[in-house]
Amino acid sequence: MAMGTYRKSVATMVQQDIAGRGIRDQRVLEAVASVDRKQFVPKALEDAAYDDRALPIAGGQTISQPYIVALMAEHLRLKGTDTVLDIGTGSGYAAAVLSQLAGRVISVECIAELAQSAKARLEHLGYDTIQVCQGDGALGCKKYAPYDAIHVAAAAPSVPDALYQQLKVGGRMILPIGPPGHVQMLKLIIRQEENCWQEEDILPVRFVPLVAAM
Ligand code: SAH
Repeated sequence: MAMGTYRKSVATMVQQDIAGRGIRDQRVLEAVASVDRKQFVPKALEDAAYDDRALPIAGGQTISQPYIVALMAEHLRLKGTDTVLDIGTGSGYAAAVLSQLAGRVISVECIAELAQSAKARLEHLGYDTIQVCQGDGALGCKKYAPYDAIHVAAAAPSVPDALYQQLKVGGRMILPIGPPGHVQMLKLIIRQEENCWQEEDILPVRFVPLVAAM
C-alpha cells in the first residue's frame, strides 16, 4: 500500500459497520470477519472491498453490502447443521458468510457467467460446503429441499410460492419484497406449521430485481 493511502481492514469494517451498527450475534461477527471480501470484488475495486456498501460486479449486478449480509444472517439464526438455500449467488460473498454459520449452502444464480465465476472462486478459496447451481431462484432448488433457512438477495414483488413450500416447518426465510428500482421491505418469514407462515417487516432496503432465468 502506498504511503498515505488508507485502506480499511476487514476487522475495522466488522467493528465499525457491523458490530457498530447493532449486530450482536458473535457467530455472525466471526463469520463476516473470516471472509475476505477482497477476494469477491473486481480487481479495480479492491481498495473499497471493506467499505460497507454494495459494489458493482459482472453482469450489471452487485456484491451485497456487508451490514445487510450480517443482518440477514443474524435473523436466520443458523445452526452448524442447517442446510441453507441462497438465491442470487452473485460474487458468492453472502454464500461464503452463510457457509461459516451452517452445514451446507445451496446457492442459485441465474446468470451463467456469474454462476461459473462464483463456483470457481468458492472452490479456489476452499468453501467446500457451498454448491452453486445455475437456474431460476424463484423456483427454489427442489433437489435439496426442504431447507432450514432461505436467504434471497434479489427483490421480487411477492414471495415466490416455491420458496414458501421449500422451507421446513420451523424454518426461517429472509428476503426483500417490493417493486424493482424502488425501496423494498426486508421481510422475515417463519414457517410455524405446515400451512402457517408468520411474517415480520425488518428494514427498508434496496436490492437488484429477481428476474426470470436467462
Ligand atoms: N449475494 C450476492 C449479491 C447478489 S446480487 C453477493 O454477495 O455477491 C443479486 C444476484 O441475484 C445477482 O447476481 C442476480 O443475477 C441474481 N438473480 C436475479 N434474479 C435471479 C433469479 N431469478 N434466480 C437466481 N438468481 C437471480
